[in-house]
Amino acid sequence: MTHENTSGTHSLNFIEQIIEEDIKNDKHGGRVHTRFPPEPNGYIHLGHATSICLNYGLAVKYKGLFNLRFDDTNPESEDIEFVDSIRQDVHWLGVDWENREFYASDYFPQLYDFACQLIRNGKAYVDFSSAETIAEEKGTPTEAGKESQYRNTKPEENLRLFEQMKNGEFEQGTCTLRAKIDMASPNMLLRDPIIYRIKKAHHHQTGADWNIYPMYDYAHPVSDSLEGITHSICTMEFEAHRPLYDWYLRELGIFPSRQIEFARRNFNYTIVSKRNLKRLVNEGYVNGWDDPRMPTVAGLRRRGYTSQAIREFADRIGVARRENVADIGLLEFCVREHLNKIATRVMAVLDPIKVVITNYPEGKTEWLDAENNPENPEAGNRSVPFSRELYIERDDFMENPPKKYFRLSPQKEVRLKHAYIIRCDEVVKNEAGEVVELHCSYYENSKSGSDTSGISVKGTLHWVSAATARTAEVRLYDRLFTQPEPGAQEEDMTTFINPNSLQIVQTFVEPSLQEATLGQAFQFIRKGYFCLDKDSTPDNLVFNLTVNLKDSWKG
Ligand code: ATP
Ligand code: MG
Repeated sequence: MTHENTSGTHSLNFIEQIIEEDIKNDKHGGRVHTRFPPEPNGYIHLGHATSICLNYGLAVKYKGLFNLRFDDTNPESEDIEFVDSIRQDVHWLGVDWENREFYASDYFPQLYDFACQLIRNGKAYVDFSSAETIAEEKGTPTEAGKESQYRNTKPEENLRLFEQMKNGEFEQGTCTLRAKIDMASPNMLLRDPIIYRIKKAHHHQTGADWNIYPMYDYAHPVSDSLEGITHSICTMEFEAHRPLYDWYLRELGIFPSRQIEFARRNFNYTIVSKRNLKRLVNEGYVNGWDDPRMPTVAGLRRRGYTSQAIREFADRIGVARRENVADIGLLEFCVREHLNKIATRVMAVLDPIKVVITNYPEGKTEWLDAENNPENPEAGNRSVPFSRELYIERDDFMENPPKKYFRLSPQKEVRLKHAYIIRCDEVVKNEAGEVVELHCSYYENSKSGSDTSGISVKGTLHWVSAATARTAEVRLYDRLFTQPEPGAQEEDMTTFINPNSLQIVQTFVEPSLQEATLGQAFQFIRKGYFCLDKDSTPDNLVFNLTVNLKDSWKG
């Protein structure tokens, strides 16, 4: 949301062009009012997030208003769990809808009255044809449809029947209310679309109040209009619905909201369709909607992605009318860029091997000064304990190193970050010949910050003192799919699930991480960005890999 319009330094996207034209023409007094209309039948995902950023961003940019509206007209597939999660996720994205949280179900009485108005004006009728007959009579794109035998029922009769529908006097499937438009329209959606159907379902907001529920194509434009939405932004698949959207508002003579379509966002190496995400959850491919491998907002948050990074990503990919696949690597880049600024640097050893500093006094602990974030002087310092026994990464040692290997090897020196230069004197092996321990000596006068040793080393390793180390479970994630477009293949998407998308390792981390809190960002130096997981307890620390330090996918 950083595009500048007034300075002319950034070009306007096509929606901004429409809005600026409207403002110039003083349409609706130059007012801009947008909304995000999720259906509470699943958790919101990255695609929704970009749409939220777009709608909210436009409201902010043009000093307008933004509504959060639950489009809750399908009681069977919706649930209050989803209402709550969506509310939480939209808020977390940094969106403030103030007191404008609405529900399409708030408008059920009004929608009913408007439907009666259409009936009175001869623009709607109750149809007792079966679903099969209605489908048959619809015609084909090249052939006109056939008018229903109920099409010319008198308005008074229709009003009475519609009231009976509302009162639950007919069984589900007996009849529908249809708009009387044009059975020969080249746009099939205008061939007397259904406005209301009978559903004897419990609704999460209105309980058992209603026996009839409005169709999306009717509820949506009317909800927009009632809220005074000026620019109703939705995805391309609704383009053909726009004439119907306009028809309802025109026939009812209510506020003329304008629908504008843009291309749905897809992202490589993942899927963003609620139906498929639901399958991943229900069939156990992931551990719930907020599994850190999921492209849901809840999953991304748990993974340690920041809302700033997601907003930056949404801004960078922009809006288009042509369908496209955005590179998830760009999102990871945005995450890295933000975390580099805010993450506390700490030391953790993911695959440990023990080091004994043979000339360091037993039982002694020194607390060494360590800066929390070189990118941010205000982040201050902390102390890390140093002692005779430590852990370093197994792959930071090589017994027979190639030339230009700057990490630890026999008779060679390296610096331990924030601490001393050490030298590897002896390699201890087990009976199988595996290296189990390294015996080293340290140079007392080589302490970081006051090094007078004169020894120059090329490598600096991270480490953790054994005596005070905390054990922690670390969950390393890889992409959930091995295919760039898993949802666009002939095979089922589950064929492409990456079997190594989650790897759990037992690690040693510095003791300061005992104090880690949810939502705090860490850089395990030389390893990646990590965050505490909600499964963590003081006795059993759990961290998630947020993102690697570098894009390992390019190499
Ligand atoms: P799904 O395909 O995941 O079921 P949906 O469109 O059915 O998505 P809604 O809750 O109806 O889910 O979507 C709310 C809004 O989010 C709509 O305006 C829709 O156009 C928009 N939206 C959904 N998916 C995407 C996407 N991938 N990219 C951009 N906008 C999206
Ligand atoms: Mg939808």
